[in-house]
Amino acid sequence: NINTLNVVAIEVAASKNAKILPLGCGMDDDLFDHDGQITKREIRALTLSALSPRRGELLWDIGAGSGSIGIEWMLRHPSMRAIAIESDATRSVRIGHNAAALGVPGLRIMKGTAPDALVGLPKPDAIFIGGGGSEPGVFDAAVEALGPDGRLVANAVTLEMEAVLLAAHARLGGSLSRLEISRAAPIGKMLGWRPAMPVTQWVWTK
Ligand code: SAH
Repeated sequence: NINTLNVVAIEVAASKNAKILPLGCGMDDDLFDHDGQITKREIRALTLSALSPRRGELLWDIGAGSGSIGIEWMLRHPSMRAIAIESDATRSVRIGHNAAALGVPGLRIMKGTAPDALVGLPKPDAIFIGGGGSEPGVFDAAVEALGPDGRLVANAVTLEMEAVLLAAHARLGGSLSRLEISRAAPIGKMLGWRPAMPVTQWVWTK
């Protein structure tokens, strides 16, 4: 029901550390508990846009980290479903806390290492690869798991993952973008642009 998001916002607002959840994608990084391994707000907004969520769809968030991508996917509409696949034990527990705190307790968490952790999961409509994509078999398993019209979005920060994406683009097509974000930060008493590491993003529809 369309009112669920508003109800969540009201419930959160009524609690002690009141925070109103914004309706747009790319929520503040600090709304998520994280250890620094999080897709930053600006990149996350572009990633959700590229994933092109539609009502009722299932996302695999591979290398889910804090869970931010799967959580924002779930927040688009109460009908959305997502599975967060994360190999690190501490982070997979944190994903559950973030999902509960942000009003999407239905986010499914698969603690395990892709590609093995993907075996037997319900087939996704869209996949995001935010980690593990350059490990043997992960990328091919993602391509294989999608049905017709399925979307695959993968972000690379390392050169190893970028090489995977360049090869994917040559083999399968899709679109490649390079996302470079700088945030203003103090230099003494003045401000300068502090660049984040550039992200190469590959977007493909099967
Ligand atoms: N998109 C996330 C950040 C991802 S950081 C967010 O916004 O929070 C990359 C994550 O991938 C790390 O947490 C790492 O533990 C995980 N990872 C790396 N290789 C993996 C694999 N093969 N299977 C599952 N998770 C993996």
